[in-house]
Amino acid sequence: MASTFKTIEGTFDVLPGAAVAVHRVEAWQEVERGIRAVMHRFAFEEIRTPILEPTALIARGIGQLTDIVSKEMFSFERGRTSYVLRPEMTAPVVRAYLQHHLSQRPGAARLCYLGPCFRAERPQRGRYRQFHQFGAEILGVTDSRADAEIILVMMAIYEELGVTGTDLRINTLGDEHSRPRYRQALQAYLEQFKGDLSPISQERLARNPLRILDTKVANERELLQGAPKLPDYVDKHSRAHYEALKGWLDDANVRYTEDPFLVRGLDYYTRTAFELEHAKIGAQSALAGGGRYDLLASAIGSRHPVPAVGFAAGLERLFLALDAAGVTLPGRQPVDVWVVAMGPDAERQAFSLVQACRRAGLRTGSDWSGRSLKAQMRLANRAAASYVVILGERELSSGQVQIRQMRTGMQTAAPMNTIVTYLQSQQNASAIT
Ligand code: AMP
Repeated sequence: MASTFKTIEGTFDVLPGAAVAVHRVEAWQEVERGIRAVMHRFAFEEIRTPILEPTALIARGIGQLTDIVSKEMFSFERGRTSYVLRPEMTAPVVRAYLQHHLSQRPGAARLCYLGPCFRAERPQRGRYRQFHQFGAEILGVTDSRADAEIILVMMAIYEELGVTGTDLRINTLGDEHSRPRYRQALQAYLEQFKGDLSPISQERLARNPLRILDTKVANERELLQGAPKLPDYVDKHSRAHYEALKGWLDDANVRYTEDPFLVRGLDYYTRTAFELEHAKIGAQSALAGGGRYDLLASAIGSRHPVPAVGFAAGLERLFLALDAAGVTLPGRQPVDVWVVAMGPDAERQAFSLVQACRRAGLRTGSDWSGRSLKAQMRLANRAAASYVVILGERELSSGQVQIRQMRTGMQTAAPMNTIVTYLQSQQNASAIT
């Protein structure tokens, strides 16, 4: 048996100081901080739901015929229960909203999230089996301003992090009656050209013809040019909602294009649907998507409909977009102080000094392997320490230690009992950089 294990295909580790930002923990921390700051400013509150959910929630919420439910779920049985590693967060958030009666709190629920999701897809650039989604949902509001705000918070996150070159497309899917009517018309139209469709599209034609609108196959895209257009099937109220939404987006100076073929792969959307793309991140170009899902709560058992709208975005793809925009993200965080000790007495005192520095708020490291002075200095350098405190047997006998400022190389002797105060004052004066 092989003695070393590796990450599963389509998953990856995130390490301190890794060369590539998407694999570097400091970069993740910075990006997560940025996302949360914008969410906070838009008055969203964070919700954290379990990674494990009942399979039926996802199946009923997202729809049996979707790709996610029909072939991408990591699900398993335990006893009589079927569990799924959540493939997305909207259905879980709505479950939590219903379970905890959040509708009884005054006002709308404005919830945001960030966490891992799982889909058994074929891994490729920008597509993983474990990936991370962040998103926001407004539950309890029918007004188109809620749709606009969801789009605004999404756009603000990319903009603030420095992503450029995004492309927002919007559409309206109409109400629960428009979609089946359109589905039928599209099916009837494409049926005439069935022989020209790819095997995948032929299969979709019967089960889920709207998915064919996403096709990348050139001759199918050409065929679609003559196909019935969704907006022609949309009811009056949905149309008015859509016009109002466009007005809000115009007021907020958000640029968008209308795409009558945009339907999104999930079943639960009504009225608004949108997608944010980036041309320079490869074949998996969708950064984020979302829309209004007024039917979802009822689909998962709510006795009352809950009007709701939200977006979900992929964090790994945000990293691709940040890279395309040339944004640099932080690397390993330097320490303030590195304590070097030579000999048993010094080592004992060093251990206490390290803890005293930390109590004083200094980021402090040391190595406990009894290495040579040179080797310990190398470690201090690797940790990018601002100051190194050197405790040698000789210095200690006189109650003195050496402090070296690494940037300048200046070294001075100082009494042991003044070290913490000295370093702290340096930090307070922002001298520790
Ligand atoms: P969806 O709801 O399927 O449109 O997913 C929302 C966003 O999550 C997409 O726009 C992607 O950015 C991201 N995403 C979805 N599936 C994956 C995946 N397998 N790997 C990485 N990111 C994904």
